[in-house]
Amino acid sequence: MSRRSLLAPATLVTALIAALAAPMASAQEKVLNIYSARHYQTDEALYSNFTKTTGIKLNRIDGKEDELVERIRNEGASSPADILITVDATRLQIADQLGLFQTVQSKTLEERIPAHLRTATWYSFSTRARVIVYNKVAVKREQVQSYEDLAHPALKGQVCVRSGSHPYNLSLGGALIAHDGEAKTEAWAKGLVANFARAPKGGDTDQIKAVAAGECGVALSNSYYVARMMRSTKPEDQTAMRAVGIVWPNQASWGTHINVSGAGVLKHAPNKAAAIQFLEYLASNEAQAYFANGNNEWPVVKGAVAANRELESLGSFKSDSLPIGDIAKYTVAAQKAFDRAGWK
Ligand code: FE
Repeated sequence: MSRRSLLAPATLVTALIAALAAPMASAQEKVLNIYSARHYQTDEALYSNFTKTTGIKLNRIDGKEDELVERIRNEGASSPADILITVDATRLQIADQLGLFQTVQSKTLEERIPAHLRTATWYSFSTRARVIVYNKVAVKREQVQSYEDLAHPALKGQVCVRSGSHPYNLSLGGALIAHDGEAKTEAWAKGLVANFARAPKGGDTDQIKAVAAGECGVALSNSYYVARMMRSTKPEDQTAMRAVGIVWPNQASWGTHINVSGAGVLKHAPNKAAAIQFLEYLASNEAQAYFANGNNEWPVVKGAVAANRELESLGSFKSDSLPIGDIAKYTVAAQKAFDRAGWK
């Protein structure tokens, strides 16, 4: 207001025309509202490229997974959110069970995202593996070839792992139930607990460091934490990584458990068309590289490459081919099995 009063009359007319035209322009301006639980620097380029190519303005709200889910629930039908992006199949499954997503039709997504990495409502855009990290002095590589091996009595007092309530372990539990059944998975969890070197604490990186320091002989970690430690320029991280070996679990059986980063269109999305357009964009080769590399993960689209030397140096492996949505369905049962086993 005060600025306008300073304008010369001719400029005032121009300003008035501009002001009158403004509502029309904003009605036409395409926007997309994203609730994101991903916080990686390379994601900035990912988002700005979308706006550059489509003209759709992105409004992003960053938050913790659980808080964003709670917020979407509370906002209900008046939620401005179009898309929820988060990590871990368990969390995507929880959001789905709460009825937060809607089904979308997209030939592009169907063609580009492998069938086992999508559900009716949410899609995976990158994968990470749950790997075994062992101390090269304390444990023989042959001893720790599978998740099941970690429950073997020979590893008594050797296992470090984060909480049994954490989604990463629950998703793994879901995979174990899908392959081995509930009874066997509970017995496995009991064996694992009996082998603990210490009560579960910290995140995956803490487990890698504890293995390197010899506090435990073996641990579970998501692959991107391993790659992150490998890329670290800190001398202590480099020393730690020299002390540990990495195993792709279950190569002789059902394959290494993989988890995902994913997204879905929300039920009350005000900008549904733009939301689908964004998911299709995430499935493009260029966006796949950004999306995966942001957290040292693998692209899901065949032919998409994330140039990541550390990740590539880990080599290739056989991954579990069960549909990710099926694995996620067993995570509630996994939590109950872990509770009964005393895996806090
Ligand atoms: Fe993580």
